[in-house]
Amino acid sequence: MLNFDSLFPYRFDNGLTIGRPVLTCAFCLRKIQGAAETQRVSNLIPSVVDIWAEASCPCGMRNQFRMRLRDDGSYSYQKENKWHERIAPRPQKGLVVHLKAVWSLLIILFSCLKVLFWVRKMRRMLAKQNKRR
Ligand SMILES: [Zn+2]
Repeated sequence: MLNFDSLFPYRFDNGLTIGRPVLTCAFCLRKIQGAAETQRVSNLIPSVVDIWAEASCPCGMRNQFRMRLRDDGSYSYQKENKWHERIAPRPQKGLVVHLKAVWSLLIILFSCLKVLFWVRKMRRMLAKQNKRR
């Protein structure tokens, strides 16, 4: 098993470098500091890299991440078994910094959606319990 941090900055053959994505706990929204494990890395095509990662949060929640990065700056991520695409931003100065910011926002959004899912699930459970009374 690889250390997630050792993958970044990830450098494509064309020179595009991508910094470590910020991994946020889906349950408590805290940043997961270190201790992320890379389950699998696949780059059969040099312009694309697939990364499967897992990380445990101090809150006890185990988080799974799947991402596909491309050398044009575009990327995809998987959420609830569905792929979501993000097209490449236009090349500009400080592209790496820009990508880092976009990537962080994406992870935060992803985490918020997961929390919403949990809140709905808990509401359904509470509703069920209330019916029983
Ligand atoms: Zn957490």
